[in-house]
Amino acid sequence: MSLIVQKFGGSSVANAECVFRVAATITNTYKEGNDVVVVVSAQGDTTDDLIEKAKEINPKPSKREMDVLLSTGEQISISLLAMAIEKLGYPVVSLTGWQAGMRTDPNYGIARIDRIDADRLKAELGRRNIVIVAGFQGINKYDDITTLGRGGSDTSAVALAAALQADLCQIYTDVDGVYTADPRIVPDAKKLGEISYDEMLELASLGANVLNNRSVEMAKKYNVKLMVLSSLHKAQGTYVKEVGDVEKMLVRGVTRDNDTARISLIEVEDMPGKAFTVFSLLAKKNINVDLIIQSIGRNNTKDISFTVASSNLEDALGELNDNSAAIGARSVEWTDDVSKVSIVGAGMVTNPGVASRMFEALYQANINIHMIATSEIKVSVLIDRKDAERAVVAIHDKFTLSK
Ligand code: ADP
Ligand code: ASP
Ligand code: MG
Repeated sequence: MSLIVQKFGGSSVANAECVFRVAATITNTYKEGNDVVVVVSAQGDTTDDLIEKAKEINPKPSKREMDVLLSTGEQISISLLAMAIEKLGYPVVSLTGWQAGMRTDPNYGIARIDRIDADRLKAELGRRNIVIVAGFQGINKYDDITTLGRGGSDTSAVALAAALQADLCQIYTDVDGVYTADPRIVPDAKKLGEISYDEMLELASLGANVLNNRSVEMAKKYNVKLMVLSSLHKAQGTYVKEVGDVEKMLVRGVTRDNDTARISLIEVEDMPGKAFTVFSLLAKKNINVDLIIQSIGRNNTKDISFTVASSNLEDALGELNDNSAAIGARSVEWTDDVSKVSIVGAGMVTNPGVASRMFEALYQANINIHMIATSEIKVSVLIDRKDAERAVVAIHDKFTLSK
């Protein structure tokens, strides 16, 4: 007998038919003699709809109240799924994040799971119940509801698998596994049989939302056996695991991330401490800076450009504006009409030609590059958003990643 955690995303439980399909998958696993803990997301576009609803009332609601609202989506899903399983004649209980003991840090909207008080979960499993847990939510030290950030149900599932020492964590979604690129952008992208935690972490952080990056980080930390597979049909999924026999492909995947904006500080005085001034201000506001370039000094001035998440753009500009005297730039320019396109692969580190091949693909597609960043296992470029999908296709082609 094994303990299996199964997570079903929003599209997998979007309507009654989907809910019953998922219920069948769960009860089949249970019938085989396994203990089953299930994590579900809000149905279909529910979370987006709730965000819109909030805007109608208050364009800048407090993060606390936002979390009270957003957590309701998952509460609908757990009860409906439990009702479907009841109807199929199996013992089941649904639990909110709080009931399941998901304790998080205090941060509303983007909370991290600190620990799971698993007594209730274990008691329910002891009674041979199928346990359905609301994803994406927990409770903080003030006994307030918190949410984990978009796509956070993946993290709920991996955290439960780690806390319960599950034998397997299955992430069921609307694609068959992890592909060399988003199959919606590159229809002939290839499904990967397996991928290392490190590569998956990069892909997820660089825009492949098939797995939330925090969930991968946690799976690596606690060595959770993770699998991505389809909730629609039976097909071999993708194993995410420690390297071992994972073949070191030069390029594993191509991603696009639209959640990015560029800020440029024009003609900053060319003297020590300027970069420190700018980036420490942003760090204090918890604003993550990604790609950075600084021009060489000319006429005693230089330009500093960097990217932040689109959701941080307003805060970042506000902070720079409030401190314009200390920074002393002639002007601050910004655009969010950009995308970051990246290639990821653990084999890259030993192969010097990879970046240039990526740039060649972009050149041949007549796409201009604004910024570049590289690390041992990735190369990222910032380009105009209108070119992003074309860029992904061109790069995918250049590295012949197709089926
Ligand atoms: P869920 O609701 O199940 O959490 P998501 O929409 O969050 O599903 O994630 C699944 C989607 O991720 C797919 O529909 C696909 O469009 C997208 N995706 C992006 N990059 C990849 C990739 N490299 N491989 C597979 N899917 C990807
Ligand atoms: N419902 C949440 C969201 O849409 C969490 C998730 O789907 O994982 O982001
Ligand atoms: Mg998701």
